[in-house]
Amino acid sequence: MQPDTRPSPFFRRMRRFIPPAIQENPVRLMHAENILFGCVMAGSIAPVFGLLYLYLGDPATAWLCFAAIPPILAVPLLLGRGIALARDALIAVIFLLLLGICYRVGGISSPSIIWFSMCSFIAMLGGGLRAALRWAILSVLAVLGIYAAQKSGFPFPAVQVRDMPLLQLVSTIGIICSVGLDIFLFEKSRTNLVRELNQAMHAVQHLATHDELTGVFNRREILRLAEQEKHRAERHGGDFCICLIDIDHFKAINDSFGHGIGDQVIREIACAMQSEVRKTDHVGRYGGEEFLMLLTSTSADAAQAFAERIRQRVAAARLPLLEAKPVTISMGIAAFRPDETVAQAIARADEALYRAKWEGRNRIEMALGMRERSAA
Ligand code: GH3
Ligand code: MG
Ligand code: MG
Repeated sequence: MQPDTRPSPFFRRMRRFIPPAIQENPVRLMHAENILFGCVMAGSIAPVFGLLYLYLGDPATAWLCFAAIPPILAVPLLLGRGIALARDALIAVIFLLLLGICYRVGGISSPSIIWFSMCSFIAMLGGGLRAALRWAILSVLAVLGIYAAQKSGFPFPAVQVRDMPLLQLVSTIGIICSVGLDIFLFEKSRTNLVRELNQAMHAVQHLATHDELTGVFNRREILRLAEQEKHRAERHGGDFCICLIDIDHFKAINDSFGHGIGDQVIREIACAMQSEVRKTDHVGRYGGEEFLMLLTSTSADAAQAFAERIRQRVAAARLPLLEAKPVTISMGIAAFRPDETVAQAIARADEALYRAKWEGRNRIEMALGMRERSAA
């Protein structure tokens, strides 16, 4: 069963802000989503602290918090100009806000000082380790700078808030929740990324192994499966048959009805074969209107009976696209022998197919064995 590869509704909504060029690359998409998530977080936390500082009797710091909201909310508009620009703009706003708050309230003892750690967190989620390192260094320098300035007697306003323990409490709870959210986000975006990469891998794998027109295996894959089945048959024993199928007088179908209808006939016949075979058998498009079927654990007699069923089904079908004119197929079947290669088995099936054509088409011929061939 294919995994559910759709992102959650929250991420789907966020993607409306992300330019299509970024969405094409799963890693860049993950970074962009994290930056948007960072905007949502910062845009929600800033007003809470604004209101808190108002309550604590420090309107100037409160307005600093409120003033940070518009630039934070404008960051998504920068995504079109580059992820790094949007990320650094968001972190710069937070960084300056923290500098302002620490300058006004408490200096190095400010409950906000610990919030500098969020800069490198957001940088990591929005750009990876290098960005995180850059912002970690800047944050450490800022904290050291605040300490040095305080020590050297720089005139900090040293605003006294009404209830310092409350500020400390809210700040501590805020940082705990933010770190928790960041870890959740990290896990979520990692899961999303793995999901997107899986989806891309499935698509690439399907393209590499299936025929675009019919949806059955392509030539490379059916030959790989034939080799695999040969090894399995050699190791564990058991019969295994190779069946080559060619549509009769297909050039005439193309000439009378056009190439497009010809394509649809190829698709219908592939579909008929695919629906008839067992789950353990394989159908592949070997060439233009030729197919190769691998009938596993099947004796020559059983393969012949099975092929006859398909032949009759195709011959009896009256495709509306061919204005109910019949279409037939010829088949050559070779029972695989342990002493031969896949190519030799296919060559024998091809000879049998040639005989089926020669004998009048719409029929099945069994391949000769090595000894019968050399006698013939
Ligand atoms: P025969 O009974 O001897 O097989 O006669 P035929 O006309 O089918 O001859 P042949 O198998 O040599 O011809 C195959 C034709 O199939 C030639 C080519 O134009 C056509 N063909 C090959 N691939 C495709 C395809 O993908 N789509 C369509 N519409 N035609 C194709
Ligand atoms: Mg052909
Ligand atoms: Mg043909």
